[in-house]
Amino acid sequence: MDKALADAKKPGFKSFSLKVRGDVKMNVAYDIKETRNVGGILRGNARQGEAVVFCAHWDHLGIGKPDERGDTIYNGAADNDTGMAGALLVAKKFKELSRPSRDLVFIFPSSEESGLFGSAYYCAHPAVPMEKTLACLNFESIGPAELTRDVVILGGGESDLDNYFVAAAVAQGRYVFFDDDNSDGWFYRSDHYSL
Ligand SMILES: [Zn+2]
Repeated sequence: MDKALADAKKPGFKSFSLKVRGDVKMNVAYDIKETRNVGGILRGNARQGEAVVFCAHWDHLGIGKPDERGDTIYNGAADNDTGMAGALLVAKKFKELSRPSRDLVFIFPSSEESGLFGSAYYCAHPAVPMEKTLACLNFESIGPAELTRDVVILGGGESDLDNYFVAAAVAQGRYVFFDDDNSDGWFYRSDHYSL
């Protein structure tokens, strides 16, 4: 089994039947909560009806087990206050410039941590139809890292925005690493995936 798990992480792994059957029974409880996505639109002046979406989830993990000081609130300063701050800064900067040609949608979905529910809801009820939404830039846990020269594309090859990203990075003299090994699942774990 250890060998099979290790092999599964290697390129070219082919799944195979374990020739085992089983039944699983689980007792699950569910709790329906109501929440809100929050957002705003900066209207374009030339290509109205087309949009670029900037996205950053506002939820974190809520209230849970206390830490060693008895604090039960999971504040989510990095995940995802930093992302929200980044998206808000972009909004502020665009507001200071002359109006963009396309609509810019700034959406702050809820319930990302519970399963990308807020962004999935946005996709089903978009401010601008998805076929007119040209790109989504999701801000996720910008984090307190040092300044770096190297940049990594998680899920390299999954988006046709890669080429724009590489061109901008190269223009800044950066080294781009394509991480197209999605076996660790990071690529699937934020709102860009449902958007
Ligand atoms: Zn997050």
